[in-house]
Amino acid sequence: MKLKATIKSITLASSIIKKGGLVAFPTETVYGLGADALNPQAVAKIFEVKKRPEFDPLIVHIADLIWLKKLTRKVDKKAFMLIKHFWPGPLTLVLLKSSIVPDIVTSGLDTVAVRMPAHRVARKLIKLSQSPIAAPSANTFGHLSPTTATHVEKQLGEKINLILDDGKCPIGVESTVLSLVGGKAILLRPGGVSLEEIEKVIGKVSRQSKTKKIQSPGQLPSHYAPRTPLKIIESLDHIPDDKNIGVLLFKNPPFKLKDKTVEILTKKGDLREAAANLFSALHRLDESGVKIIYAESMPKTGLGLAIMDRLQRASSKRIT
Ligand code: AMP
Ligand code: MG
Repeated sequence: MKLKATIKSITLASSIIKKGGLVAFPTETVYGLGADALNPQAVAKIFEVKKRPEFDPLIVHIADLIWLKKLTRKVDKKAFMLIKHFWPGPLTLVLLKSSIVPDIVTSGLDTVAVRMPAHRVARKLIKLSQSPIAAPSANTFGHLSPTTATHVEKQLGEKINLILDDGKCPIGVESTVLSLVGGKAILLRPGGVSLEEIEKVIGKVSRQSKTKKIQSPGQLPSHYAPRTPLKIIESLDHIPDDKNIGVLLFKNPPFKLKDKTVEILTKKGDLREAAANLFSALHRLDESGVKIIYAESMPKTGLGLAIMDRLQRASSKRIT
């Protein structure tokens, strides 16, 4: 459903967000596909609808600086100077995340990307939703970013609860993404605010070399991969009868796994629930002190493809 953005439709949109639904909304950069950033299952729906073959960290949109404090662990002087100059606006800052940010939002990274959009409709929606909104561009994976509500409707119309229409996005390119982790400013993606403008405020910014462009979190050196070796198995019979073994199960096992540290991603066999729990379960297994993690193969449909991609990435690094 596409509705012209009015106070009434924005209020309806906020109630959809609060209930864990998806709303496409205009920002000054492009249309975003938003979900409650603190609700992992709602965020999982974003990946499902976008048909992303892998998980990618999402930008968390806020309308009030109080949320920056809640979402991050450390905001240094450089960050505050940039915020003073460019927020609200098309600048996304990558900072160390706090524990309230679900792992699915950051693809398991220890950092979170935060932006305060300037668009009237986006700000009203975030305020009324009373929660930060995680949103990538509202398009299908591999397609052009949407800068009108019609673009969104053509690509995702049937699959999302509501599209708020406020005409064309004034900027039309994505936000600039700048990492400030560890006190060093690194440009991760050029966008709505130019490098020159940023350098006027905080001085030299490093650029990521073009050949090393980060396309997905798996390519980030800081990306979370379990320290513990991980092996994907097709059947539970392949788990050795040994202690110190962690098991990542898709759903309830047909028999009891004795003396194992077990994480079940979804009791009901629901891929969306599994995706929402994946990174947190991996974190727990990694911290449990097991020697190896056996991960049950998941169905490679819907979000299962993204889950398997992530597991394959985690396993290939550690075991050949
Ligand atoms: P989009 O999906 O178009 O909104 O793009 C989001 C951009 O922000 C992508 O280029 C992501 O890789 C980047 N991004 C989001 N969160 C992080 C993070 N924690 N660290 C590094 N890059 C991030
Ligand atoms: Mg995008």
